[in-house]
Amino acid sequence: MTTPGTIDASDGDRNTYHIVCHDCPTEFLTDGRTEAEQRLSEHRRSTDHSVEFASLGVPEMENE
Ligand SMILES: [Zn+2]
Repeated sequence: MTTPGTIDASDGDRNTYHIVCHDCPTEFLTDGRTEAEQRLSEHRRSTDHSVEFASLGVPEMENE
């Protein structure tokens, strides 16, 4: 887990992320995990909803 406020600019942050809320119809698509985490925490903080995100496209298992 990354600390909030830490920007990890390494490779692997180029995927598209899909954020979905379980408590309302809110959905986002973002480029990169950092933005996904920001959107997620923003929505959760302002609504207290249960929000999750998942990466789309390139799977995070290149060397496994
Ligand atoms: Zn919501």
